[in-house]
Amino acid sequence: MTGQFAAVGAGFSGAVVACQLARAGYRVDVYDQRHHVAGNCHTERDPATGILVHRYGPHIFHTSHAGVWAFVQQFASMMPYVNRVKAHAAGQVYSLPINLHTINQFYGLQLNPVQAEAFVRLKAQVFDRPVRNFEEQALSMMGRELYESFFYGYTRKQWGVEPSELPASILKRLPMRFDYNDNYYNSVYQGMPPEGYTALIERMLDHPNIRVFLNTRCDRSIRSQYQHVFYSGAIDAWFDGVEGPLRYRSLQFEQEMHHGDVQGNAVINYCDAAVPWTRISEHKHFAPWEQHTESIVVREYSTDCTENDIPYYPLGLDADKTILARYKQRAEQENNVTFMGRLGQYAYLDMHRVIEQSLGIAERFTQEK
Ligand code: UDP
Repeated sequence: MTGQFAAVGAGFSGAVVACQLARAGYRVDVYDQRHHVAGNCHTERDPATGILVHRYGPHIFHTSHAGVWAFVQQFASMMPYVNRVKAHAAGQVYSLPINLHTINQFYGLQLNPVQAEAFVRLKAQVFDRPVRNFEEQALSMMGRELYESFFYGYTRKQWGVEPSELPASILKRLPMRFDYNDNYYNSVYQGMPPEGYTALIERMLDHPNIRVFLNTRCDRSIRSQYQHVFYSGAIDAWFDGVEGPLRYRSLQFEQEMHHGDVQGNAVINYCDAAVPWTRISEHKHFAPWEQHTESIVVREYSTDCTENDIPYYPLGLDADKTILARYKQRAEQENNVTFMGRLGQYAYLDMHRVIEQSLGIAERFTQEK
């Protein structure tokens, strides 16, 4: 007997919706084409060292939404963790996001916050119209020198296009500060699930009304078996790419095992264009409460996303927006399907935003029923 609803994709969006519908008394079948739940948040212990590895790149949970924070705490007692990122840039190691330490070190100065803000304002480019892209946003925030050292090369590598082609919203994700606060995020709550995201999502899906089918690829035909499908795969894949392919960035990882402490921090970004990787993660530092003598270090490379690659980031250039509008029109006519999550909505959403949206989707759905 099939459930009443299907969630296609067992990442945060599918798991949150399934969990909430199951709690409301509905039966939900959850499908994922991979051998594990948690999508790109998947974590697993490295068999040789016991270190918890973020298999698809670093994920640090943060939110300012008290409801979202309370929700995740039901499935994991989040350990205190603050993301503090360092950057290799222009021959030195700096603190990110750009803060007073970065500015003073970069310019060889000893400015206080008021002086630093005035100093950077003089460097910043003034536009007599709203900024139109990532590059203009950066130039208007920090001026050319900081932009070229910390953002141009990294962004070129990460996205594979000129920063002037990208939306300003990508840069707006990051704070810029004139004090010594080096917390990567401004969120009120921040933490790490001690047994990883996969264990957290497994708990979310652990309900008598939920069945999980791994290694199972689904297509549109699944609609005929269920009252409603909650789909968090790529929106263009659902429609077999009939409107043309949306562009994504994919990632490649190179893992090494070493002894001791290799880089002294969980994440170090490499901002110079000449260095081929974007960042290096040393995974045991994501769990500073654990003791490990060995270390797993992973270099991350950003690549084009071909048909056989895993999509990670929606590129979202103008051409993609035109195609996306057509897929969204089709999606509106798909009356028993909800498109959700980073890939279903083709939007650069973090975990906390996905959870917030999925809680809303489940709530509206149970109210309407
Ligand atoms: N970015 C950069 N240099 C850095 C860090 C970030 O140029 O050292 C830019 C880059 O374009 C990146 C964007 O800021 O894609 C957002 O960074 P974030 O750390 O939020 O990226 P994520 O962790 O989601 O890959």
